[in-house]
Amino acid sequence: MPVKMMQFVSVEQRQPDKRAVGERIHDFAEIFASFAPEQAREQAARCEQCGIPFCQVHCPLHNNIPDWLLLTAEGRLEEAYEIASSTNNMPEICGRICPQDRLCEGNCVLEKGFRSVTIGAVERFIVDTAFARGWVKPVRPLRERRLSVGIVGAGPAGLAAAEQLRKEGYQVAVYDRYDRVGGLLIYGIPGFKLDKAVVQRRVRHLEDSGIRFHLGVEVGRDLSLTELRRRHAAVLIATGVYRARDVDVPGAQLKGVVKALDYLTASNRKGLGDVVPAFDSGELNARDKHVVVIGGGDTAMDCVRTAIRQGAKSVRCLYRRDRANMPGSMREVQHAEEEGVEFVWLAAPEAFIGAERVEAVQAHRMRLGPPDATGRQVPEPIPGSSFRLQADLVIKALGFDPEDLPGLWGVPELAVTRWGTLRIDWSTMMTAIPGVFAAGDIVRGASLVVWAIRDGRDAAAAIHRWLEGREQKAEEVRSRALALAS
Ligand code: FAD
Ligand code: SF4
Ligand code: SF4
Repeated sequence: MPVKMMQFVSVEQRQPDKRAVGERIHDFAEIFASFAPEQAREQAARCEQCGIPFCQVHCPLHNNIPDWLLLTAEGRLEEAYEIASSTNNMPEICGRICPQDRLCEGNCVLEKGFRSVTIGAVERFIVDTAFARGWVKPVRPLRERRLSVGIVGAGPAGLAAAEQLRKEGYQVAVYDRYDRVGGLLIYGIPGFKLDKAVVQRRVRHLEDSGIRFHLGVEVGRDLSLTELRRRHAAVLIATGVYRARDVDVPGAQLKGVVKALDYLTASNRKGLGDVVPAFDSGELNARDKHVVVIGGGDTAMDCVRTAIRQGAKSVRCLYRRDRANMPGSMREVQHAEEEGVEFVWLAAPEAFIGAERVEAVQAHRMRLGPPDATGRQVPEPIPGSSFRLQADLVIKALGFDPEDLPGLWGVPELAVTRWGTLRIDWSTMMTAIPGVFAAGDIVRGASLVVWAIRDGRDAAAAIHRWLEGREQKAEEVRSRALALAS
């Protein structure tokens, strides 16, 4: 039934209901509810159906947003699902955790004056509905190929590539050093942003589609790249970036000064029902502690909000720039503030104080100096501005760099950039080694799930082209040999 779109003048923007602070800080459940069908329909109908949809331009996957908004408004949800899933391997996950304010929604024309269409929440609604109604079917390729592809890393980049290659009929094996599939979706991002059951539901779909997972296998330790290349016609490296940036100040080795990902992984594992001695002993648990988190990105936001839920006595976030210049999503800062996190802007640690365990952070005030080559103002310490914050747990969340893969894996020919990310030819997604491709954070540096999915899809398409090209060449050689022999 045709419906009236462009309802943005009469219908106000409404996000799904957010759980009350007093309730949500006591558990790790997602803070946003799903839209009810009528709300999704109403919000989708606010879309203006732009001729040049800037929302789509600024979505890294170029999702066909106007079309699935129209179909949602018309109640044609199965078709909306078909469209949403044709460009995105995990729309229900992106709908939950993309920083929409910087991507699709931030560029919606309605943002100026009427507030954007709630694109992410509608995307999530469509695909959650599709799962609930059994529309998400395992991949059944039109023809099975005997060629196999090996993928290292079961994060979003590896998983998106795996599904795309499976659709082409390849035999796909994914290797991961962890004991669960999902990469940072499962062990990094906390449940209050992305429910683990949502990730596991997606993983089951991939297993049902015939993708084989080899867990607890660390490439470079348990399996060499040479062996992988022998097993598979092509290999994709999608290992993410895990080397935590450090703070080089006195006292950095004290007990109670921990890395963000160790802390978040322990919390996520606990939530998944694992036995986590470092959590139970209190080493990676904020309960009854004064917590200071250092950093201003999304990882820092996840740490402060996790600490609140674990029952910390106080949670402070120390960041060397100001609110306007922090890299984390403003929505996440707002959630953190609502939940009781105190932000100490323009401050950086000078030393961690304590005998054996940390007892305080000594910090100095910063001011923003002239901009550097990137145009960003450089923070500089204000002399004589030192102050102390009580702390029993200090969490370092300063970002991640790539590990030295060529060194760790003993393959010096695997070329890297000056940032240590894998060097690829972006038109073929291939590394310096023929038949070895790379995608996701290991190529881009720490980025976003939606970009990892985009890279995984691009890599799958490139692998398919490369393998088809090789098959074609082999066929030509065979035909020529036959012609010569006859
Ligand atoms: P990963 O997800 O890191 O997966 C890599 C996988 O490779 C891992 O499973 C790892 O175990 C495996 N691996 C590594 N080395 C080996 C090896 N030698 N052998 C076998 N397996 C190996 N992005 C968003 O869009 N929204 C968010 O809200 C958000 N929040 C985040 C919160 C945190 C705390 C962090 C750390 C990141 C967050 N991100 C977020 C970023 C996002 O998670 C990453 O950009 C994305 O997961 C990258 O995907 P990937 O597949 O490249 O790598
Ligand atoms: Fe927006 Fe992310 Fe969905 Fe793209 S994938 S439409 S950026 S929420
Ligand atoms: Fe609709 Fe906004 Fe996209 Fe225009 S930019 S098509 S109004 S969602």
